[in-house]
Amino acid sequence: MPEFRTEPLIVPTVSGLLPEGERDRRAALTSFRPDEARVQVPMREVVCYECGGICQVPSAALSASCIHCHAHLNMADVEIRPGSRRLTVRTLGNVHVPSGTVLSNLSIVCNNMVVDGRVSGSFRCSGSLSFNASAVVDGSISAGRLVVDKAAEVELLVGAAAETVELYGSLKGRLQCKGKLHVYRGGAYEGVCKAADVVVDPGGRFDDRSRF
Ligand SMILES: [Zn+2]
Repeated sequence: MPEFRTEPLIVPTVSGLLPEGERDRRAALTSFRPDEARVQVPMREVVCYECGGICQVPSAALSASCIHCHAHLNMADVEIRPGSRRLTVRTLGNVHVPSGTVLSNLSIVCNNMVVDGRVSGSFRCSGSLSFNASAVVDGSISAGRLVVDKAAEVELLVGAAAETVELYGSLKGRLQCKGKLHVYRGGAYEGVCKAADVVVDPGGRFDDRSRF
């Protein structure tokens, strides 16, 4: 019977020690280098709809907290469908009201809003508010840019304030415009108006009742 002999186990490197190249590679992977390791997350600036403070938030975020007032900031886009029971919307995103939606007592704070349905309530848009359908609005409107599209007739029972106003359709009611009010061909305005600059294209109608 042959004698059993254990073979000496030969390890090229002592356990726990890695070849120099491999050691450097792993050190590079795991070590923290402040300059290179800092991930640049794209940010964007938003204005808090509760306190008006300016906050930096990641561009891709769907919500955040205001660093000034700690309010929860919703950034999602919202569609208000027919029969929606959600009448109050606070978002830094955009709001769309599709055609066929008939809702009153809405309270909307958002960036851009496009109205294809028939709505009433109050609207505060930091961006633009576009009416593509007729509406009688019994609340206040505040928008960066207010647009009434062709064939739409919008009546304001309280009034609107906007930086710029573009009328392709008709707008009736009290209006305060910090910048240019442009009545395009086929557009019409009637009401008490305070505008820095009024441009009425041929075929447009501008009837400012405050002059009388
Ligand atoms: Zn705030």
